[in-house]
This record gives sequence, C-alpha cells and structure tokens, in this order.
Amino acid sequence: MNKQKLAILGSTGSIGTQTLEMIRKHPDKFEVIALSGNSNWKLLVEQINEFKPEFAVIGDPAFYKEVKASVSGTEILVGPKNLPEMASHPNVDTVLNALVGFAGFESTLAGIHAGKKVALANKESLVVGGELIRKALKNSNSALIPVDSEHSAMLQCLVGESRGGIEKIIITASGGPFRELTKKQLEEVTVKQALDHPNWSMGAKITIDSATMMNKGLEIIEAHWLFDIPVQQIEPVIHPESIIHSIVTFTDGSSKAQLGLPDMKVPIMYALSYPKRYPLDIPRMDWSKAQELTFEPVDFNKFPCIRLALESIEQGGYSPAVLNAANEVAVERFLNKEIDYIHIPKIVEKSLANIHLSDSLNPDTLKQIDKETRRYAQSIIK
Ligand code: NAD
Ligand code: MG
Repeated sequence: MNKQKLAILGSTGSIGTQTLEMIRKHPDKFEVIALSGNSNWKLLVEQINEFKPEFAVIGDPAFYKEVKASVSGTEILVGPKNLPEMASHPNVDTVLNALVGFAGFESTLAGIHAGKKVALANKESLVVGGELIRKALKNSNSALIPVDSEHSAMLQCLVGESRGGIEKIIITASGGPFRELTKKQLEEVTVKQALDHPNWSMGAKITIDSATMMNKGLEIIEAHWLFDIPVQQIEPVIHPESIIHSIVTFTDGSSKAQLGLPDMKVPIMYALSYPKRYPLDIPRMDWSKAQELTFEPVDFNKFPCIRLALESIEQGGYSPAVLNAANEVAVERFLNKEIDYIHIPKIVEKSLANIHLSDSLNPDTLKQIDKETRRYAQSIIK
C-alpha cells in the first residue's frame, strides 16, 4: 500500500499532537512530509527529530535560529506565509489543517486549489470563506473532509445517502461549562472556569468558544458549507454527555446518529482513513451498563453568541468573517483578562453592526475585512 503523505499544519496544537500520536502507531499507512508550529519551538523540534519531515515551518521568526540549530536533514522555513505553500506542496497527498482561526483559511484554499485531500479541523476556514471554498472545490478534484467531531458524525451518517433524502441535521452540543448557570451568574465567571470544559480537552480558543457557545454557531455555518444544507435545516440540541456526536433525520422519518466516547482521535482518524476505517486502540462504550443520554434545547438568550452566528450567516457576504474576527479578538482579550466573559458577545455584536464592505468577495477583501474588524474589536472599550 502506498503511504499517505501528510502535511500537518499546526502540529504542535491539541489536534496536531493527537494526529501524530495516531500516525506513530501506523507507520505503514502514513508518512509525514511537513510539520508546522508557531511559538512552541521545542515541541516542533521534538516532532521534527522523530518524524523526519522533508520540511517544517516555524511561524514565529523569533525561534528560527533555535529550530535550525536543533535539527538536521529537514528544511526549515520561517513565517506563516509558507503555510499555504506547505498545503500545496507537490509531495503532499493530504493536508491536515489544525491551525486555529482565520490564520488557517489561506492554507485550506491553497490545498483545495492544488487538488489535495484536505482534512479540516480549522472550522474558521469555512466560517469566513465558505462561499470561496465551495467554488474552489467545484473547480478542483480535491476533497474536503471534516475533522470536527459533529461534522465527522454527519459525514458518517451520510455515507451511502443522497442529499435529497435529508430532512434535517441535529448538531449536538455539550453546552460547555456554564450550561447550568443563570444569566446573572455568567457575569462573574473567570477565565479559569471557562477553560475547564466538562468533556473535551482542547486548545484555549475553542474551549472559550465552547463556553460562550460561539463554537456551536461556527459549527452550524461549517455544516452549512460542508454539506450544502440550508442553515434552517440544522438544529442545535444540548446533549451534555457528548456521546451522540450528531444526528441526521431523513425524509422518511428515520434518523441516523453516530455515537462514541468523546475522543477526537476518532474523527481525526476517520478524516485520514475515509472512506475506509483504520483500527484505533482507544476505550469503547460499554453498552451493557445502565446510562442516561439526555437532551435539552439551546438557550439563545443566555448564549447570544450562537444567535449572532446564525444572524451573520443569514446576512451572508462578509458578516461571518466579521463575526469570526471580532470573536477571535474578544476571546483573546478575555484570555488576557482585559474584558469579562459577557463582553465577548457585545464586541461581536458591535462589530457586526459597524463593519461593512460592499466589494465582491475574494481572498484579498476577506483579509482586508478581517484586519479592519480586528482593529475595531480591539478598540472597543468594555
Ligand atoms: P491549538 O491552539 O491547540 O493549536 C493550534 C495550532 O496552530 C498550534 O500548532 C499553533 O502553533 C498553531 N498556530 C496558532 N496560531 C497560529 C498562527 N497565527 N500562524 C501559524 N500557526 C498558528 O488549537 P486546537 O485545539 O488544536 O484547534 C485547532 C483547530 O481545530 C481550531 O480551528 C479548532 O476550532 C478545531 N477543533 C479543535 C478540536 C479540539 O479538540 N482541539 C475539536 C474540534 C475542532
Ligand atoms: Mg466540534
């Protein structure tokens, strides 16, 4: 069997390290061609020395010298400008995009233009540039496979089905750490509490997005572009146990769900093995044990971020990119303790109301609106 040749963008992050953990166990199936990290240069060096990629990108130029001095045989490139090149490199079959935020968009597009299989964890790519990505997919023989657990669940339910048979998609959400708090209590929550997710251990940005439920808003937009399904047909439901990763209901009233213990290795591996399955040595559900799977509706009033995300996609054009940029800035400001948790949706809402662009959508104007929104969102005083 020919090995799948991988470029892993963001290999030092939560998704990146879990991907390498699995690759380590399947040396017959995968070969690492390229790796990238931003500031955690020590981990990047360890990864380079273990996986011996052809090349690696260190994002932050401050660490170039250290990386260069600690490895041999791997070409070291410096700066995020090299990431799209990494994604379209001729020796690469599959791009695993585990970058966080808008920083991942250009590489997703570059991978698609180059006809690569793109395993996408970077949901922000589809939020900001879903329309451009869909167009690019039509003109290329690339495939875009989700890594996000809910979207992997949807894909697993949709294998063998036709699009016309779908009635709706139920996207499940754990509800995050603040599901049971009152609106009043939400005014007091700390960064530490927000970083303590009940079911998943993830990077800081997505963990905060889960606490505000912006994550579910971003994921509805992601599902819309991935499966070409109207947003109105995607229903978020709280399922605190995170065992059912999403459900698809068909026009005959039948529903399919994908279940499993919450473990990102399953959707990461499925994105790499699709349409096949490769064995994974991880804990299984014990179905013989009594257990409860519970569901409840989403409280849009308590979690305004998910409402804002839905409004942005309804407005279309640049609105989701404005929502995303404002949210990235607000999350960072919250992590830096500059603003409170409840200010996150306020910054996003103000940005959506104030930042507009009428030029036709392309990668350059997307960059422009992203920059402008960041400047604005940074300037809003709490
Ligand atoms: P993380 O913060 O743990 O890792 C991010 C990676 O991107 C790191 O390697 C970092 O060095 C790199 N990076 C960050 N900013 C960069 C920049 N400006 N330029 C270049 N490189 C940069 O994040 P994560 O939790 O692994 O999430 C990655 C993506 O996957 C996000 O879009 C997230 O929403 C999505 N996702 C994550 C999980 C999860 O369980 N962690 C689940 C579903 C989806
Ligand atoms: Mg998810």
